[in-house]
Amino acid sequence: MKIARFDNNRVGMVRDDDVIQDLTGALAQLPAHRYPFPHHDALIANLEILNNATTTRVVPLARVELLSPVANPGKIMAAPVNYTKHLEEALADKGIHHGNLVAEIHKAGIFLKATSSVVGPSEGVHLVHTDRRNDHEVELAVVIGTKGRNIAAAEALSYVAGYCIGLDMTIRGTEDRSLRKSPDSYTVLGPWLVTADEIPDPGALELSLAVNGKVRQQANTKDLILGVPELIAWASSFYTLHPGDVLLTGTPQGVGPVRPGDVMVASLERVGEMRLLVS
Ligand code: MN
Repeated sequence: MKIARFDNNRVGMVRDDDVIQDLTGALAQLPAHRYPFPHHDALIANLEILNNATTTRVVPLARVELLSPVANPGKIMAAPVNYTKHLEEALADKGIHHGNLVAEIHKAGIFLKATSSVVGPSEGVHLVHTDRRNDHEVELAVVIGTKGRNIAAAEALSYVAGYCIGLDMTIRGTEDRSLRKSPDSYTVLGPWLVTADEIPDPGALELSLAVNGKVRQQANTKDLILGVPELIAWASSFYTLHPGDVLLTGTPQGVGPVRPGDVMVASLERVGEMRLLVS
């Protein structure tokens, strides 16, 4: 199932004939939470409410504004330098590493991005500090579906709700990643969530990113240094994972700068494609 959030917080199922079946009425079944709110995303924790939901209308995909498929992620975890060829390019280019220590992921660990940085493709990326180099990083994004900690790699994929494309936008420079990668709109999730049953092996997906029609990044998740099960096992040995938590699995080689006015098109096999404006 492809689950989209769109327009004024509507939720629907994307069909292969490029329409969305609006299932927003099902949201009334979500448990009513009162302050203090839980750490998880209420819809991702209760995706089964969409299974037998009534369709109120059918809308052409081209006519909706797509939002992030996860409205309230509790945390955004991200893997640095998790493709060997990106590690090599980062070490070779001072414009990327800025004298920062670029360590392989086993030493560098996982980092966090602000949840306030999340947008969907229709919102676009709004650059800050445009005098500096602002790079695109296309990544496979994993959305956690079941709460867990100390998850074994062999069990890890059963904790996944689904997958989407993630853009980990980055200002290059010397500051900590948590500053440079967390301005508003520097995490794009979309175009929708594809539930895990449709992607039995997240370790064999082509992904790519083009800027103004020119392909910059093209790779396959089979080249991840730490695959999805290992990343979930590792992250959950530090943090409890909650439904709606997002794990960005790292970007492949080909990162490069974008400028206001650029158009990015990102695609991920079995998920789809999203187009967004840089401003
Ligand atoms: Mn990244």
